[in-house]
Amino acid sequence: MKTDYGKLTWEEVRDADKDRVIILPVAATEDHGPHMVLDTDTLLGTSIAREVAVRSPEDVLIMPSIPYGFNEHHKDFPGVIWIQPETLIAFVTDVTKSLAHHGFRRILLLNSHGSNHPVLDLAARKTVIENDIICVSASYWNLMSDRINAIRKSPTGGIAHAGEFEAAMYMHLDPEHVYPEKAASQIIHDPSSRYFNLDLAAGGSRAMLMRWWSAASPDGTMGDPTVADAETGRQYFEAAVEETIGLVKEIRRLPMLKRTDHH
Ligand SMILES: [Zn+2]
Repeated sequence: MKTDYGKLTWEEVRDADKDRVIILPVAATEDHGPHMVLDTDTLLGTSIAREVAVRSPEDVLIMPSIPYGFNEHHKDFPGVIWIQPETLIAFVTDVTKSLAHHGFRRILLLNSHGSNHPVLDLAARKTVIENDIICVSASYWNLMSDRINAIRKSPTGGIAHAGEFEAAMYMHLDPEHVYPEKAASQIIHDPSSRYFNLDLAAGGSRAMLMRWWSAASPDGTMGDPTVADAETGRQYFEAAVEETIGLVKEIRRLPMLKRTDHH
C-alpha cells in the first residue's frame, strides 16, 4: 500500500480513502551545536512520520516535509534559514487548503522544531475555520513527555535543543553525522525559577521568553548531549513512533462535527 503522497497518481488521489490521516512534517534548518548538523529537526520529524507509515500504512499518507521553520532568533549562527511566521502560516494553510480541496479531511501537522509550535497551532486553527475539516497540530515530544522522563539520563534542562534527546535519536538514525567528541553540556536552566523552563519534557514553561539564541547559549546547544547514546535514542524514537501512531488512530476516529450558524 502506498503511503508516500508524492508517489500517488492523480487518479489514486481521487480514489484514496479520504479519512486516512495526512501527515505534514514541519521542521527547520538551523544550528544544533558544534556536534550536530543543520537538518536535525528535519531528519527526526521525517523519520518518525516514515516509520509511522511503515507500521500503520492504511491509516496515513505522508506529505513531503517542510524543511524550514520559524527561527529568526537563531540567525547569529551560520547556516540558519528562517521563515517569517506569517509566511509559514500562509504556506502551511495553502497546503492544507489544497488537501481539503481534494477531499481529505484529517490532517496532522507534525512539528519537530520548538518555535514552530505556536505557528502551527495557529495554522491548524485557521485550517479548521477556513475548510471545516479536522486539522491537528502536535510537537512530537509533547506526545511522549512521560516516556522521555522515564528514559532520560540528564536532569531538567538537559533536553531542550541539541541536547540529550535529539542527539540520542540522531545517533540511532544517522550516527555518521553526529560528532560526540565536540559535544558539551550547556544546561541553561535556573532551578529556582517557577515560571521559566525550556526543557522539552519537564512540563512546559508557565511563561515564555524566547531570547536571541546566541545570547542564551554560547555554542547553540541547550541541554546535555554528552550523556546521549544510540540505545536511548532507539527508545526515544520507538516511543515517538508509537505515540504518533496512537494520535493518528485517534484522529482517524474523531467524528466530523457539523457547524450550526445561529444567526
Ligand atoms: Zn532541534
